[in-house]
Amino acid sequence: MMQIEIKRIAQSRINEVDFDHLVFGRSFADHMLVADYADGAWQKVSIQPYGPLTYQPAMMSLHYGQAIFEGMKAYRSKQDEILVFRPEENFKRFNKSAVRMCMPEVPEEIFMGGLRQLLQMDKAWVPAKEGCSLYIRPFMFSTDEYVGVSPSNTYKFIIFLCPVGSYYAKPLRVRVETEYIRAAKGGVGFSKNAGNYGGSLFPTQEANKAGYDQIIWTDAATHQYVEEAGTMNLMFVVNGALVTAPTGDTILDGVTRKSVLQIAKDWGMKVEERPLSVKELVEGIQSGAVTEAFGAGTAAVIAPIQVIAFEGKDYELPARKESDFSSKVFHEINHIRLGEVADTRQWIWKV
Ligand SMILES: *Cc1c(COP(=O)(O)O)cnc(C)c1O
Repeated sequence: MMQIEIKRIAQSRINEVDFDHLVFGRSFADHMLVADYADGAWQKVSIQPYGPLTYQPAMMSLHYGQAIFEGMKAYRSKQDEILVFRPEENFKRFNKSAVRMCMPEVPEEIFMGGLRQLLQMDKAWVPAKEGCSLYIRPFMFSTDEYVGVSPSNTYKFIIFLCPVGSYYAKPLRVRVETEYIRAAKGGVGFSKNAGNYGGSLFPTQEANKAGYDQIIWTDAATHQYVEEAGTMNLMFVVNGALVTAPTGDTILDGVTRKSVLQIAKDWGMKVEERPLSVKELVEGIQSGAVTEAFGAGTAAVIAPIQVIAFEGKDYELPARKESDFSSKVFHEINHIRLGEVADTRQWIWKV
C-alpha cells in the first residue's frame, strides 16, 4: 500500500466561500492530492494545501500538450454520506487517455485510494444544498524541462476539488458545425486531453456570436453525421427510440451517456447506437419523428436542446415536458446520485 504523506492546512478557508452563490470552478477546497512520476515509477504521493506550484518555462506540457483530465462529482446524501457517481469509470477512462498521450497510467491505489483520503479530509466542502455538489478534477501533465518533441520522463498527477452550485440547464440553442471539427478518425477525440478543448474554443465563440449556446460537432470526413454537443454526448428520441452516435475514435465515451443508455434499456426503451445524419435529424424535427434532443455529461447531467440550426435555418423541437424521457432520466440519475433510490446497478461509491 502506497503511503500518502499528509500536510494539513493551518486554517481552513471554508468560511471564505459563499455556498449560496457558488460559481462553477471558481472555489477550491482546502487540500489537493499530488503524485510525482519519475525514473519509471510513481514516487511520492501527498495530500497538501491547495496552492500554487512552481515550474520552469520549458516545462513540456505547456509546449506540446501532454495533459489530460477527468471530471466527476461527489454529493451529500440526506443521511450525510458522501457519495460519488461511478468514479471507477473515470479512473479507467483516465488511463485510456494516458496511454493515447504516451503518459504513464495512474495506479488504482493512487487514483481511487488517494481520492477517498482527499474526500475524507475535505468532506466539509461537499455542499448540502439541493443541486449542489463537489466537482472532482483529477489531471496529469508532463513536467520535464526540455524543449524537444517527445514523451516526457516526469509527470505530475493532481486531484483538486471545487464546490459547485446547481446547474440550471435552460434549453439550449445549438448550431450544426460544418466547417470546423472536434475530432477525426485516428485522432485523440476519445481522450480527455487538454488540446481537444483548446481547439474547440474558437468555433464555439463563433457560434456564440451568432446567438447559439453550443455547437453540434459533425464527423470530420463528411460533416453529414452528428457526433457531440460541445463537451457533452448528444442524444435524440427518434420514433420513440433513444439514438446516439456509437463510441469510437471521435466520440468521448461519457459516463453519463453510458448511464442514460443503461437506464433506457432497463426501462424497456429501444436504444440505437448508430450514426445519425443531419438530414435525418432536420427532416425528423420537421415531420415530428424527432421528439427530444439533449446533451449528456457530468456538468448538467441532461441539457435539453430547444433549437438546432443548420444552414442558416432554425429547427425548433417540441417544448420540454415532465413526461419526456429526458426529464425522467434526469430525475432518475439525480435520485441515484443522491442515494435516494436503491442502487441496483452498483453505481454509487461511498467515501
Ligand atoms: C467529458 C466529456 C463528455 C461527457 O462525459 P461524462 O463522463 O458524462 O462527464 C462528453 N464529451 C466530451 C467531449 C467530454 O469531454
